[in-house]
Amino acid sequence: MRIILLGGPGSGKGTQAKMLVDKLGIPQISTGDIFRAALKEGTPMGLKTKTFMDKGELVPDDVVIGVVEERLAKPDLDKGYMLDGFPRTLAQAKALDKILENQGKAISHAVLVDVPDEELVKRLSGRRTCRNSACGAMFHVMFNPSKKDGICDACGSELYQRNDDNEKTIRERLGVYNNQTAPLIQYYEAKSLLRKVEGLGPIEQIFGRIEQAIA
Ligand code: AMP
Repeated sequence: MRIILLGGPGSGKGTQAKMLVDKLGIPQISTGDIFRAALKEGTPMGLKTKTFMDKGELVPDDVVIGVVEERLAKPDLDKGYMLDGFPRTLAQAKALDKILENQGKAISHAVLVDVPDEELVKRLSGRRTCRNSACGAMFHVMFNPSKKDGICDACGSELYQRNDDNEKTIRERLGVYNNQTAPLIQYYEAKSLLRKVEGLGPIEQIFGRIEQAIA
């Protein structure tokens, strides 16, 4: 199964992707995670992409498409995968179609986790992320606090607020999402691949809706 997860920043698609990984046993490919890992390692790509990420802007299409093309050529994807945070522009969606066509494969579903903008701002400004990239658990200071302040319940590492999870950058990211990524909803609807799921409510309930949508 090859699944695309669509949704605004803070829609919970990253959390749902991790749950789907456990359930379906297919890898999650998150371009945001790839860029953050590259920055942590101090690679030239990591340093280049940081300037865009810190401002809430999109990394240029050619860079992102190159990264994804390389990742999709790896041999661990036989059972499928979940794309989280890619594609984010029409150019990326078309490039993905081309890569898949060359591989003789196709997308199974594009799942939209639908959440209103004001809810996204509330969620992102309180979000705390585990510093241990192998864990990546996420908490919220009000809606889902960790048991011990600043410490990850899952692995005991420090929690931090992502550089781009501040109100100014959040508004910028939302604008970018609405202008550049939201058109993908129509793109996948026209291909009859869109599965729209209500993204409000308890995490398990949303997960249940996604499972039904891709069954
Ligand atoms: P995310 O972790 O998915 O919220 O991504 C964090 C940031 O990484 C975004 O705000 C962009 O700056 C960059 N990024 C991640 N994926 C993409 C993509 N597919 N296209 C362009 N920029 C991206």
